[in-house]
Amino acid sequence: MTFVDTPARLPTLAERTGHLADSAIGAVLRLTGTSNVIPLAAGSPAPETFCSQEFTEVTTRLLKRDAAALQYGDASGLPALRSWIAAQVSVPGRAYEADRVLLTHGSQQGLDLLCKALLDPGDVVVVDRPSYLGALQVFRLFQARVLDVPISSDHGLEQLEAVLASEPRAKMIYVVPAFANPTGASLTAPQRDRLAGLAERYECVLVEDDPYRELGYDPAAVPASAAPPSENTVRLGSFSKVLFPAARLGYLITPPSLIDVLMKFKQAADLGNSHLIQQVVHELVQDSAFLAAQLDRARDIYRERRDALVSALTGAFGSVLDFDLPHGGFFVWARFPQGTDTTRLLTASLEEGVSYVPGTDFYATDPDPTTLRLSFSCARAEDMSEAVERLARAWHNSIED
Ligand code: PMP
Repeated sequence: MTFVDTPARLPTLAERTGHLADSAIGAVLRLTGTSNVIPLAAGSPAPETFCSQEFTEVTTRLLKRDAAALQYGDASGLPALRSWIAAQVSVPGRAYEADRVLLTHGSQQGLDLLCKALLDPGDVVVVDRPSYLGALQVFRLFQARVLDVPISSDHGLEQLEAVLASEPRAKMIYVVPAFANPTGASLTAPQRDRLAGLAERYECVLVEDDPYRELGYDPAAVPASAAPPSENTVRLGSFSKVLFPAARLGYLITPPSLIDVLMKFKQAADLGNSHLIQQVVHELVQDSAFLAAQLDRARDIYRERRDALVSALTGAFGSVLDFDLPHGGFFVWARFPQGTDTTRLLTASLEEGVSYVPGTDFYATDPDPTTLRLSFSCARAEDMSEAVERLARAWHNSIED
């Protein structure tokens, strides 16, 4: 049989595809791909923290015990894991019930499901300034109008209230409350309480995207606990940074009024997460000695990398580069003097052999071209001073041009 090479006739694409931005996350991951480039771009966890041996042992044990581990599971998630999550985030006086927890493919899917449930084109989402670029991408895909306010700055909450008061279509406030991506900053307890209050007053949903909470490196700087469960607060959590991202396991903790609709979207999207992976993760995390050791090991690795990066930056740049010490998470958010364009500087930096993410990708509006995000999660501590020397060479060459 011969095939005639006729031009394919495809139906026109859906309207929403016009809102698909180039994948900034894809671009970030590509920056990390070359072996002679020291990776300060991708915010991926360190492979040295992955518990592959324990994962293999638990998986083998489970499969020997019961082949049904390979069956479909409950679309909302493994009941035992939902209960474990609810118990973890409950504190006295603030109990979460397991039936408010929905397992998702990473917290990224949680964002997608939330937008499906809440946003119509033209609805307003107010985000912190700067904000996680993967969230900005989802909000734009759902044709939201995304406005940004520096929520944790001195008058940030007043600015936020002014925006909420003037935007009748404001539906969602999005924050990363602990060791944020990209700034490393955490909300204080009063800021978090006022945020929750504003969400209630202006009938918005406060979305707290919280994957870094467990990764704090300085006991004196523990972030405020998450907002209390209310009709207006949704929490997103993830096992990506605590265990490993290939689990693709995250969760939503939602008000009772939202859980049903989110569950229906989840079911329509994929019929639920891998039953096997959820069982393995549940076996791993319910072993509290394992979990404590896993977290301690990860914190030690990241603390050492952070310290190496921060001291190299201070040594090489002095006051030229402005940044705050991040007390947790994966990122140093930094600012060069006026006149620097970190998108242009990136080309020279990659030629020198170091990557980072220009700050402009993290702004919903009016990007600041002097900013950049340096991630310390993936590069070895012993490579940090070389990485920073390369960045400093690129910067000095750029000001001489
Ligand atoms: N939210 C934030 C703030 C993140 O930094 C990330 C990962 N970079 C995610 C969500 C997505 O994480 P995952 O889907 O792996 O849980």
